[in-house]
Amino acid sequence: MYQAFLIKYGEIGVKGKNRHIFEDTLVSQTSNALKPIDGDFTVRKENGRIYAEAHAEFDFDEAVDALSRVFGIVGICPVVLAEDEGFDKLAKTVIAYADKALPEKDVTFKVITRRARKNYPMESMEVSAALGERLLEAYPQLKVDVHSPQVILHVEIRNKINLYSKTIPGPGGMPVGTAGRAMLLLSGGIDSPVAGYMIAKRGVKLDAVYFHAPPYTSERAKQKVVDLAKIVARYAGPIRLHVVNFTEIQLYIYDKCPHDQLTIVMRRYMMKLAEHFAKEEEDLGLVTGESIGQVASQTMQSMAVTNEVCTMPVYRPLIGFDKQEIVDVALKIGTYETSILPFEDCCTIFVAKHPVTKPNLKSILKSETHLQEKMDLLMQEAIDTAELIRAEA
Ligand code: ATP
Ligand code: MG
Repeated sequence: MYQAFLIKYGEIGVKGKNRHIFEDTLVSQTSNALKPIDGDFTVRKENGRIYAEAHAEFDFDEAVDALSRVFGIVGICPVVLAEDEGFDKLAKTVIAYADKALPEKDVTFKVITRRARKNYPMESMEVSAALGERLLEAYPQLKVDVHSPQVILHVEIRNKINLYSKTIPGPGGMPVGTAGRAMLLLSGGIDSPVAGYMIAKRGVKLDAVYFHAPPYTSERAKQKVVDLAKIVARYAGPIRLHVVNFTEIQLYIYDKCPHDQLTIVMRRYMMKLAEHFAKEEEDLGLVTGESIGQVASQTMQSMAVTNEVCTMPVYRPLIGFDKQEIVDVALKIGTYETSILPFEDCCTIFVAKHPVTKPNLKSILKSETHLQEKMDLLMQEAIDTAELIRAEA
């Protein structure tokens, strides 16, 4: 029934001089999202709006699903395009449209007409009134309400005539690519994929790094992270995922440091390595799935000590979220099912029974002096042997 979508965007409309950058990015992200599906869509900007027009048959649900993953879109209006063949023909088209678009006829409505070209022989108000009348004749259960109608039927007279009345909510946010890029520390858990989603939602392009510890962690655990990156990439676009072998570093720390400090020391080296790859990618910050108090390594004291090694900003979009709130987002974006697959995680394998919850920086720095002999070499090895995987939806 529909031949096009009118894409509504909110926040990005108010960006002054930069507005065209935001719009152009939204056009190209929308176009990327529609590429893999049928419909041979073209996406264009016109009079401060974005149109996605199909040139072939397409699956409506599939198209809406693709559009609902494009950050920056606040509303998706399915549009019927009709040739201008006189008012009578238009009225018939509108009646047929209403039959399908309003399966429940027992609603209040109003018609709003806009003329993008003024050579149409009737005034906008006249068109609205006449179409309203015809609709009431065709469907006597309908009622007009000009103040707060349940349905607004938009009729826009352009080259073709556009009819639309429905807005399907989009994901909001900003188009990916308008806000720089960041390095996501992506584990196989529930939190970090959600953190990546939230940062991407603000327009940030993502790179990612995953630390594994073969043979203590399996190939399947790694595949799970690749799969999570692919799911996040459905929203964030292709992700360059660096897979870093962390085994030797972990064994070395295990050997040389007090066991109640293992997690903290380990996390400090993770951050250092993440920063190395982030600089290589010209990222502007690191992103983690941490939330205050969730586990011992996420107390304010622990995060302060971990953060101390970083020279880049560390973004923690879930910092104030409860676990259930994170789970709710994971379910919504489709990462939850994969995240709960029960594979081993490099952080939990070497973890102490009673990790410190209030680490003291001085004491951690003292423990790290025991790592001087081999750590530089091991870090370099981890960097040199890292594998780069392109995760694409
Ligand atoms: P998640 O569900 O994201 O794994 P978590 O609750 O298990 O989080 P931690 O294991 O303490 O929490 O990890 C905190 C954050 O550190 C993670 O959200 C992630 O950003 C990062 N992180 C943890 N382990 C790894 C790993 N193996 N590779 C990359 N990043 C990791
Ligand atoms: Mg984890």
